[in-house]
Formats: sequence, structure tokens, C-alpha cells
Amino acid sequence: MKFATKAIHAGIEPDPSTGAIMTPIYQTSTFVQESPGKHKGYEYARTHNPTRTALQNALAALENGAYGLCYASGLAATDAVLKLFRPGDEIIATSDLYGGTYRIMKRIYEAYGLIFHFVDMSHMDNIAGMVTDKTKLVWIETPTNPLLRIIDIEAVTNLCKQKGIYCAVDNTFASPYLQNPLDSGADIVMHSVTKYLGGHSDSVMGALITNNEELAKQLQFIQNATGAVPGPQDCFLVLRGIKTLHVRMQRHCENALKIAQWLEAHPKVSKVHYPGLPSHTGHALASRQMKDFGGMLSFELRGDSYEEAMHVMENLHLFSLAESLGGVESLCSHPASMTHASIPKEERMKVGLKDTLIRLSVGIEDVDDLIADLEQAIG
Ligand SMILES: *Cc1c(COP(=O)(O)O)cnc(C)c1O
Repeated sequence: MKFATKAIHAGIEPDPSTGAIMTPIYQTSTFVQESPGKHKGYEYARTHNPTRTALQNALAALENGAYGLCYASGLAATDAVLKLFRPGDEIIATSDLYGGTYRIMKRIYEAYGLIFHFVDMSHMDNIAGMVTDKTKLVWIETPTNPLLRIIDIEAVTNLCKQKGIYCAVDNTFASPYLQNPLDSGADIVMHSVTKYLGGHSDSVMGALITNNEELAKQLQFIQNATGAVPGPQDCFLVLRGIKTLHVRMQRHCENALKIAQWLEAHPKVSKVHYPGLPSHTGHALASRQMKDFGGMLSFELRGDSYEEAMHVMENLHLFSLAESLGGVESLCSHPASMTHASIPKEERMKVGLKDTLIRLSVGIEDVDDLIADLEQAIG
């Protein structure tokens, strides 16, 4: 089945009791049993809920995976992956990482004895050089946030397979419409469903998808045993959201490319980070690895002063100043003081994340209006 058909139909059956075409919101905590242990597959809503099951199956299908699991947030999904490991285990992650992922690794799990190495993954040698017999996982995020760097998923998974290490990919920025890491050999795909999958800025959720039965069993156990599950109302909203994922993504990509080209030609802009531009270092790899280049971009102002960046963001009207991304409406943010404030300045500078960097989540409004808004704010 092709992507657009899966986005609308996969994992979803008419409701067995009424024939309702949309999966109902099963707002219930428990399910009545005929006799002890004799039930219809549902016992207690932390363990299973029919609305969540439909969504989990739909998300698995979109990533070409056999098993899907939903969590209360993207970070709860990441938390579940990290709970697979034990003190002394080592994890290699990309240095250009979502701030919250860095924070859960450094500030929560390091205290429980996991050992993290953050490396620049534009060269495979950097990863290979860190591998020891304790290495259990390589964690990739591509495109990265907020510099939109591209990591070669297949090269990393090949290395992981050689060394017998799991590879997990945070696929939030791309969405399953643009790339499917399981097809390139990844073991786990993670999503902040909050972003493009939900797509309407109205819920917080995470997901993990895998083809590995053993991993799926362990992750299911962790999902139930630690309980960070999403409610049925949110699952319903996301089920509705993913039906238009392909259509939304096409417009996000179209608008972002036009804006990136416009910004690149602007005299007050010194640099644009967008993988769809031939000037981007990851352009060739992104062209191979992704179906299109996504709706996220960032840029730096020539003036290079913190105040100038603040001025532009305060003067944008259609681009709302807010964290998050991937919704139908355009957002702008200042990574150094917002999403990435939990990464020490020294570390930020090392990865090239300047104080003047502005990140845009390009929405699906009319692109002429978005460009006019940028024009009046940048001047
Ligand atoms: C938002 C985000 C997360 C965290 O997801 P939440 O749903 O906010 O917990 C992880 N990775 C990336 C790339 C994100 O953008």
C-alpha cells in the first residue's frame, strides 16, 4: 500500500460494536471481564486501550514497522528506550541533539550509571572510535535540530550491525512521510508525535516503532510497568491528524524551500540552514535519503547581534514566537534561549549553535504572506 492510502486506512477498522468509521474515544479506565481472565483482549487502560491500539498500529504502518507503541510524550518514549539499558552500558548520541534528549541523558540517566558519548556524526570514524564492548546503542537524530544537519542513517546502521549495537533514530523532524529509518536498518524509530504526526499543535505524545519482536516485548513491558501512556482523547486527535500527514508535508516542504531561497538571497541574512538548498553541506545526502527536505529551517543574521535577532522575532506576526514545531501554523524560535537553553553555552558554541540563530517551523499558510511577514520583520 502506498503512503497516502496507509495514512488514511492503516491500522483502522470500523468500530466492531457500531460500525463507526472513526475509531471512538474509549474514555474508560477498565474493561468488564466475563470470568476472571476471560475478556475481549482489554483488561485495564494503562495496559491497552482500543483507541491507542488503533493509533499504534497506524503509526507502525507509516514507518513500515511491525510494532508501534505510544507514550505520554516524545521524551517518555525516549525514556522507555533508555530503560532498556543497565548501569555501565554505553550509548553514543549525536552532539547536535534535541535539548530535552540531551537533558534526559545527562541529567537523569547518567546518575543511574548509563554512560553517554556525544559525537559529531558527519564522520563515521567519530562513532567507530567511541565503540567499546560496553556500547549498546547509537542514537541518531536527522535532520538535526536546529542546524538541520543530515546524518547518513544507512552508514550508521551498517556500522551498528557490524558491531552488534542497536541503532535508534529520532525521526521527528522528517516525519514518516520523508524517510523510514527501519527500511535503512534502524532497530527503533522514535517520534515526538506532538510535532508533524499530530500536526495541529493540540496534543503532546511520543511513539516508538520497531520490527524487532524481542525489543517490542521489552518496550511493551516498560510501557505498562512504568505507565507513561497517552490518554484516548489525544490518541483520537493524532489518528485524525495523520490522515492528512502526506498533504501537509508536501505543503510544508514547498513553503520551506521557497522561504529558504528567499532568505538566502536577502542581504541581511548571512547563512541559511536548509537541506533543500544546494549550498547546504548535507544536500546530496538528504536528496538520497529523504523524499523531500522538510518544513524546518534556521538562519543567521549578518548583523550578528543578539538584539537584532530579538528584534526580528518580536516583529514577526504570522510566525508566532513559540517552542515546538510541525503544526499547520508557522512558528519562530530562538534555540539558544528556548529549546536549547538546557545545553551549556560552551557545548552550544562547539556545535555551531550561535546566539543569533533563528529557527522557523514553516507552516502551510500561503507562502506569499509568510515571505511578506519575514520581509517586514527583517527590513
Ligand atoms: C519535541 C521533540 C522531542 C521531545 O518530544 P516531546 O513530545 O516534546 O516530549 C524529541 N525530539 C525532537 C527532535 C523534538 O523536536
